[in-house]
Amino acid sequence: MTNRGTKLINFFFPTTCINCGKTGEYLCSNCKTTLTPHPEICPYCHKTSQFYQTCLDCRISPYNALEGVIIPFSYTDTIKQLITKFKYKHQKDLVDFLVNRLIIILQTNEKLNTLINWSVIARSDNDVAIHNNQILISYIPTHRYRKHFIKGYNQSQVLAENIQEKIQIPIVELLQKPQASKAQAKLQRNQRLVNLQGKFILNPNIQLQGHETILLIDDVTTTNATLNEAARTIKTQYPYTKIRGLVIARHN
Ligand SMILES: [Zn+2]
Ligand SMILES: [Zn+2]
Repeated sequence: MTNRGTKLINFFFPTTCINCGKTGEYLCSNCKTTLTPHPEICPYCHKTSQFYQTCLDCRISPYNALEGVIIPFSYTDTIKQLITKFKYKHQKDLVDFLVNRLIIILQTNEKLNTLINWSVIARSDNDVAIHNNQILISYIPTHRYRKHFIKGYNQSQVLAENIQEKIQIPIVELLQKPQASKAQAKLQRNQRLVNLQGKFILNPNIQLQGHETILLIDDVTTTNATLNEAARTIKTQYPYTKIRGLVIARHN
């Protein structure tokens, strides 16, 4: 759309704050301050755990494939509305806000910030970047069944690409969906756990060295079942990778 077109739309349909209705931004600066950080917990038992790391007890189980799941926001009404808006419509300022918060939480996570070269210069050759970095970004692939979403729009991919753009961590499309599964959101929690069996395959065109840390991005997590299943799929071929989930919020 042309700049003029955007301006006209903004004139007739002004952007308003989803929380208080003030004109100007999707979430006004005042309402941004009401968003609360998610407590640091273990992704499996939900006990307090520094830097969102999987606790020692939960590391014992071979089924728990994640090193942790990083969650910037508690699931409040405001964040819920923000995520809904982001899911159905790609709004640049909204994406920027969410991505900036995700980057801040990476910067303040002592287990991760040393892996990221914050001054690295943008590289055009992705292969070179892959072999020069200890940390990579990947994301949960979407599936055709989600036809009510914008065609070709995967919100986890949008987050991943924007993080890559801002801090130059290379993206690898590690995972693929072999076929459409019933939309996860429509299933009950116990059905959801069953439905995930074997739902991802590894992209045959990607080769990892095998010791990288992978930031696996999803928009929202509930049981961590999707992230865990994705991590288990990666670990079948790369058992020494360290996989951390990164999500906007946790729906409980
Ligand atoms: Zn507001
Ligand atoms: Zn635990």
